Amino acid sequence: MALHLETPLLESRPLSLATGRSVWLKMDALQPPGSFKIRGIGAACEHHVRNGKRRFVSSSGGNAGIAVAYAGRRLSVPVSVFVPETTTERAKSLIRQEGAEVFVHGASWQDANERALAAVDAETAFIHPFDDPILWAGHATIIDEVVRAGLSLDAVVLSVGGGGLLSGVAEGLARNGLQDIPIIAAETEGTGSLAASIKAGKLVELPSVSGIATSLGARKVCERAFEIARTRPVESVVVDDRSALEACTRFLDDHRVVVEPACGAALAVAYSHFDRLAQHQRVLIVVCGGATSPVSQLQAWQAS
Ligand SMILES: *Cc1c(COP(=O)(O)O)cnc(C)c1O
Repeated sequence: MALHLETPLLESRPLSLATGRSVWLKMDALQPPGSFKIRGIGAACEHHVRNGKRRFVSSSGGNAGIAVAYAGRRLSVPVSVFVPETTTERAKSLIRQEGAEVFVHGASWQDANERALAAVDAETAFIHPFDDPILWAGHATIIDEVVRAGLSLDAVVLSVGGGGLLSGVAEGLARNGLQDIPIIAAETEGTGSLAASIKAGKLVELPSVSGIATSLGARKVCERAFEIARTRPVESVVVDDRSALEACTRFLDDHRVVVEPACGAALAVAYSHFDRLAQHQRVLIVVCGGATSPVSQLQAWQAS
């Protein structure tokens, strides 16, 4: 049995009324570790165990680290997560809650990642947060489930960090014969690495990332994501932190589920940029979730 759940697919009455079209939600916020990431990471971890690995290492202080920790507990494999000093107490405690060991190292993610790579030996699998074909195949199950449920769509809205979710959803569409369906790829202003690459016509690395959508904070998307953006119908949308945050609080009121601003970026396309949906009648939003910003954090951002 896979480590992820088949999540609910529901029509959002509030968002359908607000946008004048049919808006469907794939509720991956309800995955046990809090985000869609367990789909791909679960698939990767199972693959590595089948191939004899005895330990998992991650360098993500966010939802990827939490998902690896969860997968390790479920598979009875020890997990070490290397995170920088900037990682929140909340994230560290969610990782430890799954029984994984947290090592704090360095001021930046690069430092923590170097230390994580140095800890990898022949028996250890390093689990990348977004750049791995096994991961994409796991994320693609989002679309398999939607197709199996019989929903026909004409656009998919999702958030983009390093582009693993985009790569997986594109694979899911393609393996179900739906490769011509447009993907609306949402980022925040401080994390627009895909938007910058599309604009430059080549894969570019941002000098830095900023803002509250920390789970989207990859300075460069993976090559696969950029290739998809060049060769498939992908529309880039950049929203500001305010709209991402407002989307989180409105979504909490409308659907009673807490998500991170990283997910709010995708929801903001429907809540405040619905002109971008003008061409589409039946829209699927991947509610990717995120466990690292509780209500108190959303409120603190709102007050600031
Ligand atoms: C990781 C993550 C994303 C972005 O996924 P990528 O595969 O890095 O593009 C979006 N939202 C949440 C909540 C995440 O954890």
